[in-house]
Amino acid sequence: MLNVKTRQTYLKSLGFYKGVIDGIEGVLTKQAYKNLQKTYFVRKSDIDGIYGNNTDKLLQNAYNVWKCCKNFKLSEFRCECNGRYCTGYPVILNTNLLTYLQKIRSDLKVSTVITSGIRCQKYNDSLAGSIKDSKHTKGKAVDFYNSKTATLTNRKNIINNYIKNRYASYAYCNSYYKSNWGSGYVNAPYMGTSIHIDVI
Ligand SMILES: [Zn+2]
Repeated sequence: MLNVKTRQTYLKSLGFYKGVIDGIEGVLTKQAYKNLQKTYFVRKSDIDGIYGNNTDKLLQNAYNVWKCCKNFKLSEFRCECNGRYCTGYPVILNTNLLTYLQKIRSDLKVSTVITSGIRCQKYNDSLAGSIKDSKHTKGKAVDFYNSKTATLTNRKNIINNYIKNRYASYAYCNSYYKSNWGSGYVNAPYMGTSIHIDVI
């Protein structure tokens, strides 16, 4: 877990903490934990003002998204089980993934919707077409769409560029995949016009 000084630094960057960075867990620091939880956790029972493992993952995620992904908010990556099985943020999003996603967004210059970010294992296993050890359960994959992913030609270009420039492991859409070892057809109609990108 992050030490108190780092927590304060992160919370201050995110606007939740107004006090000094002194490494002491005082009233303002505890209030900041609670405000962070209130902003992101969907289950009331998770909002307790106590800095445990769940809050540690939440704070690291909030900070990493703020730092690497200026066009996205952490809540856009939340597990879609909607509090049924998890806090919404059961894993820490990979910072390379966040950086690459932002790069795609900046290159395309259009507002982009995340259709799947973090998934807890239970939620993942309930989805059609999901594999058991999906990278979504490890914070290493994201699916998104925007106005430019509407055509297959564009989707292929985006996927090809992603693999070529980012040296990532795998990217695919409804009918095309590319990886470090090859490319070809994939039958994934459930993807709609979305693209999946992941990191090693
Ligand atoms: Zn979940």
